[in-house]
Amino acid sequence: VTRQAGVGQDVVRRVNLSHVLRLLHASGPRTRAELTAFTGLNRSTVAALVADLAARQLVTEGEARATGTPGRPSPMVSLRTDRHVVLALDVGVDSLAAATVALGGHRLAHVRLERPRRRTVVDTTIEDLGTLADEVLGELGRGHRLVGIGVSVAGLVRTDDGFVHVAPNLGWRDVALAELLRARLRRRVPIAVANDADAGALAERVHGAGRGVDDLVYISGEVGVGGGVIVDGRPLRGVGGYAGEIGHIPVDVDGLPCVCGAVGCWETRVGEAALLRLAGEPEEGGRDAVDRVLAAAEEGDAVALGALEELGRWMAVGLAAIANVFDPQRIVLGGLHGRVHPYLNGQVAEPPRSELLTVREPVQIVPAVLADSSLAGAAELAFGAILDDPTTVAPQRTGARAARTQEPVT
Ligand SMILES: [Zn+2]
Repeated sequence: VTRQAGVGQDVVRRVNLSHVLRLLHASGPRTRAELTAFTGLNRSTVAALVADLAARQLVTEGEARATGTPGRPSPMVSLRTDRHVVLALDVGVDSLAAATVALGGHRLAHVRLERPRRRTVVDTTIEDLGTLADEVLGELGRGHRLVGIGVSVAGLVRTDDGFVHVAPNLGWRDVALAELLRARLRRRVPIAVANDADAGALAERVHGAGRGVDDLVYISGEVGVGGGVIVDGRPLRGVGGYAGEIGHIPVDVDGLPCVCGAVGCWETRVGEAALLRLAGEPEEGGRDAVDRVLAAAEEGDAVALGALEELGRWMAVGLAAIANVFDPQRIVLGGLHGRVHPYLNGQVAEPPRSELLTVREPVQIVPAVLADSSLAGAAELAFGAILDDPTTVAPQRTGARAARTQEPVT
C-alpha cells in the first residue's frame, strides 16, 4: 500500500487496486471491513477500490453480512470466476498438462496427457499441447474471456521472450517455445514462459506450502531436479534469468555424468534415476517404478528403505548448500522429493546447519501441498500482469469515469 507524497494519484490507485486484488487472489473472499483492516486504508478508499475492481468485472460484492464484530454489516467481496481466465500449460518429461484457470487459482477445466519418454520432440509436443489447449478452451462459458497464457517447462528459459535455451531431460536446445505456441494456438494474448521450478515456487508461495514466506526455495524433484528461489518476496533471476539451477550444484566431482554435460551434479544423486538405480529398478522406469519403490518402502522392504536412506543422505548435502547460500525461511520439496519426504526425516528433519552458521534460524523443510505446482504456477505467470496492474483490464460500465480510464485490453 502506497500513500507516499509526490507519487502520482494514478500510480497510488494502481498499487492499491493490485494490493486488494492480490489479497483476494491469495486468501479467498473477504468482507470489505476485512480488506480495510488488512490494507490499512480508510473505509471509503476501500469501497472505491472495490467498486473500481467490480467495474472491471474482476470482483463482485455480495450482500452485507454481520461480521460478529461491532459496527455495520460489511459486504463480502469475491473474485469473479465467470469472466477473466488464463490458459496454463505444463511441459514435463513424462506428461503434458493444460488447464483453464480463473482468478484465485480456481481451475475450470484440466487435462493431463501421460506420454512415453521418447515423445518429447518439439513438433509433437507443440501439437499435443495444442490439442490439450483446444480441449480445455472449448469448455469455457460464453462470458469467459482469455486474458493470458502461462507455460511452465522443464528447461532453462529466457523469460523475456519465452525462449528455451536448453532442456536436457526433454532433449531440447534453442526452442522458441512462446513463438511456436503463438502460431499453433492463434490467440492474441500474451504468452509467458518460465522454468517449471520457478513456476512451482510462485504457486506454492501464493496458494501452497510457502504462503506468506518471503524467503523461500522450492525444489522440483522429477526426472531432473530444478529450483525456484524467492528472496525478499521476489524471484531470483540472475543476469539471464537462469538462477536457481540447484540440480546442477556439483556435489560429487568424481561422480556420475549429468545430462547437462557436467559431472557429479546433485541431480545425479537425488533425481528420479538415482532413486530407481539405488532401488534396483530400471532408471527409465518412470512414475510406475517410483510408485513400486514407495509401495515397497511402505511395507518395510529393506532394499527400498535403504535406497531412500541413501537418497536422503545426498538430499541433505544439497539442502545444506541451499540453506548456507540463501538462508531461506522454508524449503519446499515438490514432485518426487515431496513424495519421498516422509522417508527422509532421519536425514533432513534436522536442519542442515553448518557450525559456521549456528546463529541462523533453523530452516523449515516441508513437502509441497499443491498437486501440480508447476501447472498452477503457469496460471500465476499468466495472471501476473492483471494482478500487478488491474487497470490493464478496461472497465465495462459506461460513464465519465469509465470513459476517462478506457485503455486497450492486452
Ligand atoms: Zn548437471
